[in-house]
Amino acid sequence: MREPRLRYDVLVVGAGPAGLAAAHAAAASGARVGVVDAQPRGGGQVWRHDLERGVPAAARRALRVLDTLGVTWMPQVQVTMAQPGWLLADCREGPRQLHYRALVLATGARELLLPFPGWTLPGVTGAGGAQALSKLGWPLRGKRVVVAGSGPLLLASAATLRAHGAQVLGIHEQASAHALRAFALRLPRWPGKAAQALALRTRLLGVRYRTDSIVVAAHGDDAVREVEIESPHGRRRIACDQLAVGYGLVANTELAQLLGCRLEHEGRHPRVAVDPMLRTSVHGVFAAGEALGIGGRDCALVEGAMAGYMAVGAEAMAERLRRRRRRARAFAEQLRSAFALRPAVHAAAREDVLVCRCEDVPLGAVLGMANAREAKLASRCGMGACQGRVCGTALAELGLARAERFSDGRRRPPLFPVRLDALAGSFLHDPRDIPS
Ligand SMILES: Cc1cc2nc3c(=O)[nH]c(=O)nc-3n(C[C@H](O)[C@H](O)[C@H](O)COP(=O)(O)OP(=O)(O)OC[C@H]3O[C@@H](n4cnc5c(N)ncnc54)[C@H](O)[C@@H]3O)c2cc1C
Repeated sequence: MREPRLRYDVLVVGAGPAGLAAAHAAAASGARVGVVDAQPRGGGQVWRHDLERGVPAAARRALRVLDTLGVTWMPQVQVTMAQPGWLLADCREGPRQLHYRALVLATGARELLLPFPGWTLPGVTGAGGAQALSKLGWPLRGKRVVVAGSGPLLLASAATLRAHGAQVLGIHEQASAHALRAFALRLPRWPGKAAQALALRTRLLGVRYRTDSIVVAAHGDDAVREVEIESPHGRRRIACDQLAVGYGLVANTELAQLLGCRLEHEGRHPRVAVDPMLRTSVHGVFAAGEALGIGGRDCALVEGAMAGYMAVGAEAMAERLRRRRRRARAFAEQLRSAFALRPAVHAAAREDVLVCRCEDVPLGAVLGMANAREAKLASRCGMGACQGRVCGTALAELGLARAERFSDGRRRPPLFPVRLDALAGSFLHDPRDIPS
C-alpha cells in the first residue's frame, strides 16, 4: 500500500524562527504552504514551549500569523527520506509523501557535546539540553547546577535554569578573558545584541561568570557529584547535582545532504552552501537559519523571510533583506572567533573515555580507523540511537584526521529511524502517478 500524498507550492521543513518566517513570506504571496516539524509545537529551539511559561510573545505572533494565512501546520512529523520533488514524512497516522514545487530547509542546529571523563554520568547533560528539559518540566528546584562549555547559549541556559528554581553555582566559559574583552568592545556595533546580553546578565545577577575555565572531568557514582574545572589558577572540584555542559552548536545538514545539496565547512563541521539569495545547489531548494551555519535567532528570521520570498519567485522582496542578512552574519562571525574552542577542551577527551555513548565505544577504539564504515564495523561506533549525530560530530570536532570522514558530505546520513512499511512504500512510488 502506498502512502497518501500531499502537494504544496512551498514546503518548509523546520518550524523554528527561520521556518516560520519562510512560511509567512511565502504564504503572504498567496502560495499553498505546508510546514513540518518533528516537535509537537512550533518555535524551534529558541522558542521551545515552556510548560510553566508558555512561549514568548514573538513566537505566539509568528504561529498565529500562519494560521491566519492558511498555512498547513504538521507537527510531530519527521522527514525521514528525501528526493528532489518530494519527501517521505513519518506522521502519527502513518507515512505521507509530501510533494513540493519549492522546498525551504530550516532544519536548525544541534548542540556540540564533547567527551571527557564522567560525561556519561546521570546528571550531566548539554547546556541547551538542560534548558530544553527544564522547559519540559524536569524538576530543578533547589538543585545545584554548574553550567559550562562555550558560547552565548550558556547564559541563556543558565537564565532558564535559574528561572525554574535551580541554584546556578557558576558559568564556566572556556574562551579566554582576552578574546571576550575584544568581543565586548565590538558589541556596540550591534545595539540589539548588546541589549540582549545585558538583559541576560541582569537575570543572572549574583552568578559568577568565569572565563578560561574548562571542565576536565565529572565525578560521581550513580550520578554526578562533583565537577573538576581547570583554570589558570589550577584545578578545583565543585560539588553539584547537575552539570550542563555544551560547546556551541553545529548545523543540521543531513536532510540537505540526502537531497544532494552541496555542503561547505564551518570550521570542522558542515553547513549547507547557498548563493547570496539562499539557493542551494539543487534547483528549487532553498535554505535558511542555523542550517547555513550558526547565526542566532535574528539571522534565522531574516534568512527565513528571504528564503520564503525566493521560494515563490519574489526575488525583489528577498533582495531588500540582503543587507540585514549580511549584518546578522557579520555578528555571527564575531561570535565564532570569540568563542573558538581551545586545544585544552579537546585534550579532556582521553583515549579511555567513551566517545559513542549509545554503543559504549571508547575513543581509543576508533583512533586509526580509515573511515566511518570501518569504525562502525569494528566497534559499532555511530550505530546506536543517535546514529552518529553525537559521536560523529565529536570526532570531527576533535580533529581526528581520519575521523573527519564521518561528515565528509558524500554519504547519505540517516535522519530518524524509519518504519519498514514507510520505507517499502517509498520504493513503490512512481512520481508520474501524481495528478498535477
Ligand atoms: C538545544 C538548543 C537550545 C537553544 N536555546 C537558545 C536560546 O535559549 N536562546 C537563543 O537565542 N538561541 C538558542 N539556541 C540557538 C537557536 O538554534 C537559534 O537561535 C534559533 O532557534 C535558530 O532558528 P532556526 O529556525 O534556524 O532553527 P531551530 O530553532 O533549531 O528549528 C529547526 C527545527 O527543525 C526541525 N527539524 C530538523 N530536522 C527535521 C526533520 N528531518 N524533520 C522534521 N523536523 C525537523 C527541528 O525539530 C526544529 O524545531 C538554541 C539551540 C539549541 C540547539
